[in-house]
Amino acid sequence: MEKTDHHLLVGHGATRFARLMGHPDHDPRTPERVTVWNQLKQELRCGKTGPDFRFWKRISKWQKAYGLFDTVGACAIDSRGRFAVATSTGGIWMKLPGRVGDSPIPGAGTCANRYGAISMTGHGEGVMRLCLGRHAVDLMKRLPCQAALDATAKYALKHGVECGIIGVDAKGRLGGAHSAKWMQLGMAAGR
Ligand code: ASP
Repeated sequence: MEKTDHHLLVGHGATRFARLMGHPDHDPRTPERVTVWNQLKQELRCGKTGPDFRFWKRISKWQKAYGLFDTVGACAIDSRGRFAVATSTGGIWMKLPGRVGDSPIPGAGTCANRYGAISMTGHGEGVMRLCLGRHAVDLMKRLPCQAALDATAKYALKHGVECGIIGVDAKGRLGGAHSAKWMQLGMAAGR
């Protein structure tokens, strides 16, 4: 966003651009990830599971067993009332090459407007379908942050979407809510 006019680059073009900007190549595979990946492939072969919503639910058990939680989101407001938000994720397991989830999509997993800022984790296809990020920050126009996030998590649950969401509103009130079983969050205030 600083070096080009674009907001989003993916795939081959993104890799080329990253190299051009001087980022070194990096192989993100770890032995733990490869172990789970092989187990999941085995399940897929046996027809025990498939790359769909139910599959997303099944993998939670692997994530729990191996402590593999990858999404990190952050929202902040400064003393001048300016918002910043960022979401980093490895995506979901067994996704097709080229799949883009909700995390980098403004209005889905990452969103800020004049009322607030949010970052989300969860089943990206569901989050995008419901535009949950936009939904949450729009609610902050009339609700405090926590109430807006609770309402968003409830709305997600009603539509069967597992997610977790953190946020901050224009008054600097922080919040977190989830329709998934649990989510870790931290809050901090500075001067
Ligand atoms: N939301 C991410 C995705 O669907 C996954 C995650 O948050 O863990 O790609």
